[in-house]
Amino acid sequence: MTQRVAIVTGAARGIGAAIARRLGADGFAVAVLDLTAESGADTVAAITDAGGRAAAVGADVSDAGQVEAAVAAVAEKLGPPVVLVNNAGILRDNLLFKMTDDDWDSVIGVHLRGAFLMTRAVQRFQTEQGYGRIVTLSSTSALGNRGQVNYATAKAGLQGFTKTVAIELGKFGVTANAIAPGFIETEMTAATAARMKMAFEDFKAGAAAAIPVRRIGQPEDVAAVASFLASEEAGFVSGQVIYVAGGPQD
Ligand code: NAP
Repeated sequence: MTQRVAIVTGAARGIGAAIARRLGADGFAVAVLDLTAESGADTVAAITDAGGRAAAVGADVSDAGQVEAAVAAVAEKLGPPVVLVNNAGILRDNLLFKMTDDDWDSVIGVHLRGAFLMTRAVQRFQTEQGYGRIVTLSSTSALGNRGQVNYATAKAGLQGFTKTVAIELGKFGVTANAIAPGFIETEMTAATAARMKMAFEDFKAGAAAAIPVRRIGQPEDVAAVASFLASEEAGFVSGQVIYVAGGPQD
């Protein structure tokens, strides 16, 4: 069987890098997509050093022209993409009364418009192949989180997006699911600690104490679930939101 191709967005670091490495180990040829191809070099090296196949691609997921060009480049370099992981994300946290138009537009743009543009570009290949897996990063913030009205809206929107894509593309052999992580140790959560003027170690310890399994998550915790949802054997799981948060969510 020819090697299947997966695209992971925001794969230069953090959760996206862990998912890309895991899918590389699972046997996929992996397109490591981030804002610049150069920033994806470390993730590509980790995959190829482990015996896998990968290529870095640069694109801003919120730019339609860049997305179309990047997906076409992946198809050309690695083959038709059948797995898509919508992971690229940014934070612009602020209380509603202080939130700027730009804080709102940029977060909605990267998460919602980004997932829409990437999925629209990749589904063409998936429906042609009669097979596909779409995994999109939501968040526990979808349930509401102070200071994140933009991000919570985007992450809740991605749950509706996922369910609708699952309904529309199911008959083509394509599943769509969302992963909603809780606190995962990455540069994103480190930046949140810095913004709150807290030492990251104290921030992590405080978060861990409130999580039923008494630890914070690691990028690999999310990658393990993405690996399952991207696999052939997950074919009867679609339109689901899986919380990866060390405990139940409301
Ligand atoms: P991260 O460490 O900040 O990594 C995000 C990656 O996305 C970076 O490499 C970033 O590139 C890239 N990116 C940002 N904007 C982009 C764009 N427009 N086009 C392409 N790439 C872009 O974040 P993370 O913690 O790994 O989070 C990954 C995903 O999980 C996000 O969707 C996030 O919302 C979600 N999530 C995270 C947590 C958590 O606790 N960490 C919890 C729930 C959900 P640059 O470095 O160049 O900006």
